[in-house]
Amino acid sequence: MKIQTLNGKIALALFVLIGLTSGFYIYISVQSTQLYQQEIQQKLNRSLAQHIAKDIPLLSDGTANQAALEDLFHTLMIVNPSIELYLLDTKGTIMSFNAPPGKVKLDRVDMVPVYSFLEEGNDLPVRGNDPRSPGRHKVFSAAPVFENQNLAGYLYIVLGGENYDTVVEMIRDSYILRLLFWIGISVALLSLLVGIISFYWLTRRVRQIGSDVEGFKNSEFKAPISLVGWRRESVGDEIDSMGTTVEKMSQVIVDQFQQLRQADITRRELIANISHDLRTPLTSMRGYLETLQIKKDQLSSDEQEKFIELSIQHSDRLSALITDLFELAMLESPDSAAEMEYFSLAELAHDVILKFEVKTSRKNLQVSCDIPQDSPSVHGDIAMIERVLENLIENAIKFSHQGGALSLRVAPRDGKLEVKVVDTGIGIAAEDIPNLFQRFYCVDKSRSARNRSSGLGLAIAHRILQLHGGDIKVSSMPGKGSCFFFSLPIAST
Ligand code: ADP
Repeated sequence: MKIQTLNGKIALALFVLIGLTSGFYIYISVQSTQLYQQEIQQKLNRSLAQHIAKDIPLLSDGTANQAALEDLFHTLMIVNPSIELYLLDTKGTIMSFNAPPGKVKLDRVDMVPVYSFLEEGNDLPVRGNDPRSPGRHKVFSAAPVFENQNLAGYLYIVLGGENYDTVVEMIRDSYILRLLFWIGISVALLSLLVGIISFYWLTRRVRQIGSDVEGFKNSEFKAPISLVGWRRESVGDEIDSMGTTVEKMSQVIVDQFQQLRQADITRRELIANISHDLRTPLTSMRGYLETLQIKKDQLSSDEQEKFIELSIQHSDRLSALITDLFELAMLESPDSAAEMEYFSLAELAHDVILKFEVKTSRKNLQVSCDIPQDSPSVHGDIAMIERVLENLIENAIKFSHQGGALSLRVAPRDGKLEVKVVDTGIGIAAEDIPNLFQRFYCVDKSRSARNRSSGLGLAIAHRILQLHGGDIKVSSMPGKGSCFFFSLPIAST
């Protein structure tokens, strides 16, 4: 079974950790109790061998005194059957013992522990060979055996005691170990329980983040995540600050999704507008050309001339529209930049006004230029600024009545040079002003169509001034006229 939840994984880790700690605790308890028992047993019997060796003549003429030994073995069998007695020569070879034949498996006993036991001041317990069970080590008591003041051997007493094959057996047999075992188990279970509850409590905020993020995904990123009742990062811990970051990230995602949706809507509108604006002059052109083709013989030469003229006008409009579209696309590309230079705005304004002389006089407009001769040079892209002025003047002419007035004013303002294109035309309603600089925005579609409006000129002007780090603004009153104005930085001398 695979554990999926964080809480489950932490609980498992805790379980393993507490299991290992408890195992270690039980092992240490068993070992230390066993060691303690052995130490006590060896200390209590430290002089046992010495007393026996002193009181009983165990050797006679260098060999075991069988009569004395038999007597000793018999007595010990009655007093303490668990102890085993061995008479060793000086090298540790077993000379005599109290056990049924075949029980003793070793011929000699390792003397290093015996010497260590006999040396005063050494720590107990010291464990030596158990001749009945090779490989096992037990506590013992030992004493040198002398004959005629000469060292003739050693008395080696294995202090019996129980020997357990497994820890379980040992615990089962000892009250204190049983008690320690159950204390260990109880502490382990309690720690596990407290651990699981605390981790469940601590991870509840992580679970909340998880479920809120899931909900956020299911809502298709419409509303940002709001973690109710959370402390903010100034006082909270790492999970609190993670929650705050998730909230902020969700807000960014929501905003970007909204921008994407808006961009998609704009893109669709743009395509619809472009196809409409391209199709209209094309349809008209085709209509005139078809009429010419089908009814060529029935049309007078004046009519034919007029149809050709109209077709050319529509193709010009188409070409202007495509030029504007292309220009706007270029200006809106992220790597488009203004080529800045210093130039005289006064000269440029005069030149542009001159270009429109035919159109202004056709509408009988009163044109005035209010530009001081000594006005300073400005810093900007001359071709782009020319385009802005052309668009603004073209509009002013387009939306002016016969006999109206058009003026171009340049004056210093706030350390810059402000340019105003003012007309006394039809004006713009206040509600249209915020949308005026958007692509394809025409105040009145029918009127715009009559005036051959594409709705791109002001968007181009707006973008150009953006590239100059500025803006274009308008003030207007319907029926009275409009004033478009923008500023350019003055060239530093
Ligand atoms: P176009 O390229 O067709 O002239 P613009 O982007 O320049 O389009 O203008 C957008 C709309 O703003 C025009 O259709 C018109 O309704 C309005 N507009 C622009 N300039 C003026 C003005 N001087 N007087 C009145 N309306 C204007």
